[in-house]
Amino acid sequence: MTVTRFAPSPTGYLHIGGLRTALYSYLWARRNKGEFRLRIEDTDTARNNEDALGAIMEAFEWVGLDYDGTVEYQSKRNDIYKKYIDQLLSEGKAYLCYMSKEELETLRETQMANKQTPRYDGTWRPEEGKVLPPIPEGIEPVVRIKAPKDGIITFIDGVRSIMNFSSNEVDDFVIARSNGVPTYNFVVAIDDALMGMTDVIRGDDHLSNTPKQIVIYEAFGWKPPKFYHIPMINNPSGKKLSKRDGAMDVMQYKRDGFLPEALLNFLVRLGWSNKDQEIFSMEEMLELFDPTHINKSASAFNEEKLLWLNSHYIKNVSNERLAKELEFFDCHIGGHDKKEIILDLTKERAQTLVELKNAIAAILDAPSEYEAKGVKKFIKDETIIKILDNYVKLLEENADNLNISIDYEGVTKPFIEEFELKFPQLFQPIRLALTGSTQAPSVYDIMGVLGVEVVCERIKIACE
Ligand code: GLU
Repeated sequence: MTVTRFAPSPTGYLHIGGLRTALYSYLWARRNKGEFRLRIEDTDTARNNEDALGAIMEAFEWVGLDYDGTVEYQSKRNDIYKKYIDQLLSEGKAYLCYMSKEELETLRETQMANKQTPRYDGTWRPEEGKVLPPIPEGIEPVVRIKAPKDGIITFIDGVRSIMNFSSNEVDDFVIARSNGVPTYNFVVAIDDALMGMTDVIRGDDHLSNTPKQIVIYEAFGWKPPKFYHIPMINNPSGKKLSKRDGAMDVMQYKRDGFLPEALLNFLVRLGWSNKDQEIFSMEEMLELFDPTHINKSASAFNEEKLLWLNSHYIKNVSNERLAKELEFFDCHIGGHDKKEIILDLTKERAQTLVELKNAIAAILDAPSEYEAKGVKKFIKDETIIKILDNYVKLLEENADNLNISIDYEGVTKPFIEEFELKFPQLFQPIRLALTGSTQAPSVYDIMGVLGVEVVCERIKIACE
């Protein structure tokens, strides 16, 4: 059975890179009818923060990535880690190291001065026939793992193919600090093994951790999972993504009016492709996603693409769903008896739910101001005022028969012919009077939504 996980450290908000990792792990587990687990890597107590944890959970809920089992918190698993550290110590696969901070620093400086990569020199590593230094007083030892001294640490990365690290690159690294707290790579490897991970999909910023984790697997005789290291998301100019480019809290995308489907679709394509297909429903992602097809090179964040996908989903989800999503923006269109027409009218042009809300408000709320250009052109024009005056009279006379847009069309067409008008001569000022803008959707539809009384009133007010 395929088991994957998402393992965020709650040191900040969930950003889109993290969400993409989570999505890929989720899709791969679900596609294989396996398990997707959530593990909170909260061992770095100084950097953890409660708000960040809340924000991660909230973001997960918003995008609808459901996980299996209960959430595991590393901070609650210290007894487990201790047991495995003790096991390595008793099997002679790890050892106590009493080197002081100062000694380590001197060693590091000497190595650097000799242009060597700093690494632990094995002073306290027990070897056959070797006499260890006397145990100094007042120093709490750390625990170091006995890493292989020579040879190659190798693993197959599902994105990049075979990865070889010389064992020179991995020293006898610390697995438990002097206060007994286990280190990052140790707990990740233990948890992945105990939780039965078969596939670890994560950012390639973790690539250099993997050989260390392999050393831990090997010390216990465990089979490592398959690894997939995903290249980073860059900005359009190929640089590290900054907040301004979109590297923000996932929940900010909600506040900015994106639908979760659009964000997930955007993220699945940011680093993975299936021919030239751009739109993926969740069903399609689940059917097609394969981590071996993740791109080898970094991908570029493209805001226009995200907006394009968002407008696609805004047009294609049900009106009922849109009404529900709009509640978050304090737009309560769900209770309006003409909600279907209003949403059909406005969703065509909206790229975000915020734009949709504004477009709805532009129809339903009386304009608080009018577009200056339009006022100059139409409302100040005597002839047009006269036309509008006659038009209002016409509407009032026919008020009883004016319900839906087609009724307005029925009375307006003969009016235009009788006065030999061009369409924009009538429609642009009416648009302006009804919505404050000349960019609004179909006038007949807006009139059908507003009703004759409101229409006449808005035209009169605009002409005052
Ligand atoms: N906790 C790590 C992070 O948030 C992820 C570790 C992993 O996936 O192995 O970057």
